[in-house]
Amino acid sequence: MKIPKSHPRFASLMTRELIADAVKKGIASEHGLIAHGRGEAFDYLLGEKTTENAKKSIKVAAALMLLAKYPVISINGNAAALAPKELVALSKIVPAKLEVNIFHKSRHRELKIKEHLIKNGAKEVLMPQKNFQIKFLESNRKYANKDGIYKADVVFVPLEDGDRTEALIKNGKKVITIDLNPLSRTAKNATITIVDNIMRAMPLLISSIKRFKSLKTSEKELNFICSNYDNKKILKDSLNEMDTNLKSTL
Ligand code: ATP
Repeated sequence: MKIPKSHPRFASLMTRELIADAVKKGIASEHGLIAHGRGEAFDYLLGEKTTENAKKSIKVAAALMLLAKYPVISINGNAAALAPKELVALSKIVPAKLEVNIFHKSRHRELKIKEHLIKNGAKEVLMPQKNFQIKFLESNRKYANKDGIYKADVVFVPLEDGDRTEALIKNGKKVITIDLNPLSRTAKNATITIVDNIMRAMPLLISSIKRFKSLKTSEKELNFICSNYDNKKILKDSLNEMDTNLKSTL
């Protein structure tokens, strides 16, 4: 579909096109369309902008990614559809492994996601393995790669659904997520939640990491940045930002 650039909802409509196209290509699932719709609704409440609050989380997430001993980026269909180049760029700059992990069991779709990441510049994409399972999880999401999520200390899980974040935390890992819904179980359980649209947050996360690297920020400083972080406060402030935005709109 051709969308004129002058359309007031150009960015949002283009994003919908990306998801719809990814469903057609077998990268995202039909359920991904529903998850995207939920995200859009929260983005509307947020005013479709990156808030100061989200910028704070992005800075701490960048610091934690750099402090990690073994960081891994978990990719599902929607994340692959919306920000493949940025996720690959993040994996190269940290550096961190990329691993496919989806809720609805489908080897075919897992391979489609891998192929899509490789088309977008990834050199290596890990796949879940049957013999390596994350404890406290029942779904297809429990399978992990022994050189990836299974041994990671920090896992980046943008647009995560349900209970995996809680399970990863119970397995002793730190979790960073991007989730427009501050009320989701993932947002509440993650170590760091970036309440923002993945399309806006990813370039900022990459820039923040590049900045820390170019300034040769010490481990001590990175630890200090992480030490003052309070995820519950971030979620409450995000809800307040939505409230303020709504009141000022009407
Ligand atoms: P809960 O944890 O409440 O059970 P869920 O498992 O139902 O949530 P999904 O509907 O699968 O969650 O969606 C995953 C999350 O991704 C949602 O919280 C949604 O708000 C968020 N989301 C969807 N699209 C985007 C996007 N473009 N950027 C950031 N977050 C998004």
